[in-house]
Amino acid sequence: MGNVFTKSDIREAFPDTAQADRRIRDLRDFGWVLHARSEDASLLQEQTRFVRAGVEVWDPRARRAADPQKAISAKVRDDVMARDSYMCTTCGITGGEEYPDAVMQSGVLSVTKQTVRLPDGSEREELVTRCKRCRAGRGARSVSVAEAMADAAGLGNDDLRELIGWIGGGRRRPLPIERAWSSYLGLPPDARADVRARLVERSLEE
Ligand SMILES: [Zn+2]
Repeated sequence: MGNVFTKSDIREAFPDTAQADRRIRDLRDFGWVLHARSEDASLLQEQTRFVRAGVEVWDPRARRAADPQKAISAKVRDDVMARDSYMCTTCGITGGEEYPDAVMQSGVLSVTKQTVRLPDGSEREELVTRCKRCRAGRGARSVSVAEAMADAAGLGNDDLRELIGWIGGGRRRPLPIERAWSSYLGLPPDARADVRARLVERSLEE
């Protein structure tokens, strides 16, 4: 279903654009549904599947009318980020936090539109917090079904149910401990020291 293409195809189609990643992200921001490997396991790492066309980005008027940044107000953006505990809903990185697998590279968060498939099979547009890396489709590793099952094998029932919830919703929900971590990271340095001391004290009481 749908055409599969690679980043080099996009580079050929847009010869003056060096960054194919950026081009794909732009299209997604304008309502185009393009699946990467993270959304469609049948694809190879470099492949993207065209699912549905969005705004006619080559028409300047249509483009201006649908400008995704303009459409999301600062207030809405703040609300969405707060709901997601200032974490990327795909990989869990917090703004400014270093990626565990890439030292010297840290999370830059923004709010983007995402198409979510509901349990009844219908689709809905939802605003979610995503990091720059996941928006560019570079967040996902390449794993086999066997590896994915092996990673899930050690999960207890609560974690398993949580994971199934994430899979159903198409996005990761912050766990209570991660929400606490994200709140801690949002504090100024002197307040961090205060919170740390209080938490240590509480851990000794229990
Ligand atoms: Zn991410």
